[in-house]
Amino acid sequence: MTEVRSICVLCGSGEGALPAYRLAAEDLGRQMAARDIRLVFGGGSIGLMGAVADAVLAGGGEAIGVIPDFLIRYEVGHNRLTDLVITGSMHDRKRRMFEMADAFVVLPGGLGTLDETFEIVTWKQLGLHASPIVVLDVDGYWAPLRGLIEAVIANRFAHPKVAELLTFVPTVDALFPALAAAPQPAAGVATGHL
Ligand code: AMP
Repeated sequence: MTEVRSICVLCGSGEGALPAYRLAAEDLGRQMAARDIRLVFGGGSIGLMGAVADAVLAGGGEAIGVIPDFLIRYEVGHNRLTDLVITGSMHDRKRRMFEMADAFVVLPGGLGTLDETFEIVTWKQLGLHASPIVVLDVDGYWAPLRGLIEAVIANRFAHPKVAELLTFVPTVDALFPALAAAPQPAAGVATGHL
């Protein structure tokens, strides 16, 4: 069991097609503040990123943004955060977010969210960390991601236990128990399929 004090939330810089996405982001932010869990995120004020940060701050919680200098104007750097860390590159942003978090939660999002999610999952596959990764599958948005991972395993490009590196949950209420119960990465998960 891992005690989670700081969650890095990976999510869209847009709001997506369904109101349910924003509602889930707000619910997550509220519950994090109520549990005194710090938010680490991409530092923008827009989309689901902004929604989760605003809900954390409204609940009296801490929100730390990490944003590369060139993105501040596009993603409208949030100006009410506990702290805004400015990095020189996307790679530094991901590294800093990783260093400041002891768990990862994935909300609906676009290609940037996919990139960040795969990086954090592959680092876990390689044994570089053992932090929980929980995917909030709002209205089945992430079912294709789950299917893709199953196809990779079925085609023997990854060890079957790769599926345990991340946990899919349907609701924010299911998310906190899933973070606490996330299994440690299985031995051989990086190389067992070779
Ligand atoms: P998106 O899911 O595309 O809305 O992006 C979510 C977050 O990921 C935003 O803060 C983007 O700046 C960031 N992002 C976009 N592309 C990349 C990338 N190639 N690597 C890392 N982060 C990215």
